[in-house]
Amino acid sequence: MEKYAVKNKGEDKFWADQVADDVIERVESSEFLKSLAKKHGYIAYDEKTPSGTIHIGSGRGWIIHDAIAKALRDKGVKARFILSSDDTDTLDKPSKELSKEDNEKYRGMSFRDIPSPVKGYKHFGDYYFRQCTELFPEFGIEAELESTGDEYCKGSFNKTIKIALDNADKIQKIYAELYGEDVASANKLPFNVKCPECRKIATTIALEWDKEKEKLYFECKEGVVEWAKGCGHNGWISPYDGNGKFPWKVEWAAKWPTKSVIVETAGKDHFTKGGSRTAACRFAVDVFSYPPPYPSDGYETGPGYEFFNVGGKKMSTSKGQGLGFADSVNYAPAKMLRFMLIRTRPNAAIDFEPYGSNDLILLYERYDQAERVYFNKEDLGEKENRRQKRIYQLSHIGKIPDRFPPQVSLLHASMLVQMFESEHQMIESLQKTGQLPAHAPEEELECIKERLNFARKWVKEFADEQYRFKLQHKAPEGLRLEHKQKKALHEIARLLKEKEYDEKLLFNEFYNVSKGLQLKPEEFFTSAYKVLLNKERGPKLAPFIIAVGKEKVIRLFESV
Ligand SMILES: [Zn+2]
Repeated sequence: MEKYAVKNKGEDKFWADQVADDVIERVESSEFLKSLAKKHGYIAYDEKTPSGTIHIGSGRGWIIHDAIAKALRDKGVKARFILSSDDTDTLDKPSKELSKEDNEKYRGMSFRDIPSPVKGYKHFGDYYFRQCTELFPEFGIEAELESTGDEYCKGSFNKTIKIALDNADKIQKIYAELYGEDVASANKLPFNVKCPECRKIATTIALEWDKEKEKLYFECKEGVVEWAKGCGHNGWISPYDGNGKFPWKVEWAAKWPTKSVIVETAGKDHFTKGGSRTAACRFAVDVFSYPPPYPSDGYETGPGYEFFNVGGKKMSTSKGQGLGFADSVNYAPAKMLRFMLIRTRPNAAIDFEPYGSNDLILLYERYDQAERVYFNKEDLGEKENRRQKRIYQLSHIGKIPDRFPPQVSLLHASMLVQMFESEHQMIESLQKTGQLPAHAPEEELECIKERLNFARKWVKEFADEQYRFKLQHKAPEGLRLEHKQKKALHEIARLLKEKEYDEKLLFNEFYNVSKGLQLKPEEFFTSAYKVLLNKERGPKLAPFIIAVGKEKVIRLFESV
């Protein structure tokens, strides 16, 4: 089911470009889609129910749609990514974010009719949706935001509502075929009225559709759902202009013609056999006469994207639901998360573990490598170079710099933040080692400072014990070294006094000196770390000594 990259085998395109090519081919082959694309642009669409804290996994979908829209634009077509907040969905399970009383009161209502838990937001749904979308600039996500509820109120769905109600029997038949004749949806009209009295949606049932008058007879009552009580109101009502909503599988399909959607993928949990995507594809084809968006093809759903989890074990147990999108920036900078999601094919699962693992070190190394390849500073072979350059382009936020920016690895940055008190000293050290030019432009300096800041956080919160240290001001009390070890340290101190070393030359001296004294190199390294850090191990010694500054090291080595 590898639909994302099958068509042009051998060319081995980057996944987003492959999707863009497949989508363009699909549109070009259909007069209907061609006219839609001409009128509205290629619409990549995604949606999310703001029922509470939105999981980081949804963020994967936003980045995927954003990347597809960008890849389409890079191919010269007009493309837009629209993200809708499904704020007409109803609170059906008790929310942890609401008090017991409020859960009682609001269950069965739309998230747009429940007050925001925090002031300054329009409603409950708006609050949770905006927790995410306010971070979009930081993630480089360019999306047009809308609210499904607003679209209902504007009448955008009126046409599809009429089609669905006129064809209620078809919809019921599809529900029965997929889920059995006994399911409730197979036996009722496919529209849920919002009770004008109590404003609940889940407690109403539509019993009759007057096709001529375009009115629904509905009752709001007990027993429609077990978990919420209706108020007893009933009557005839127009289903249009925000007076209710579709059941959500029908709604998914109704959105496609309504918003002229050409691309919409979702998490693979929606793409299981007979799942919501299967139903939506059936409704789209059989009821709305609309071709389901990519990656679906007619009744065939195609594949959804894989899961994305951050800090699986540690965090999912404490919160019971995994990490929220808005919280993810506490575990890695947005630009690094974006890079991770762009570089990974949508059909590969991601489990990112910031705590006590090498995941963050690796992530930064891969980012830096992609940057080096982009600026032709590293060669990984033609094919891989092409891939890395594309990853860098699509994951970069804002304008790509004109020249190769200075790079400081996360490990080196973590060393600096533990070695020096002030940022000024760190910058000075980087200038001394030549990792940062003396007059670096402001934006390059900012990038380095950002990395130093994150390195500080990494050391404090995430790094394994082996990456933590404290530079000693004098040789630790009670330090015991062999005679040969002391001699080796003295010898290195002497050499440091004599000449200037770069990392490589200094590293070689460690081996020369050890060999000359018939000392095992490991014993030399252990003694150096003990004197400098009061630990048996530490960061790479040569760059460390150069970064600390040799005066300090000479003094410490001579003191033993
Ligand atoms: Zn009611």
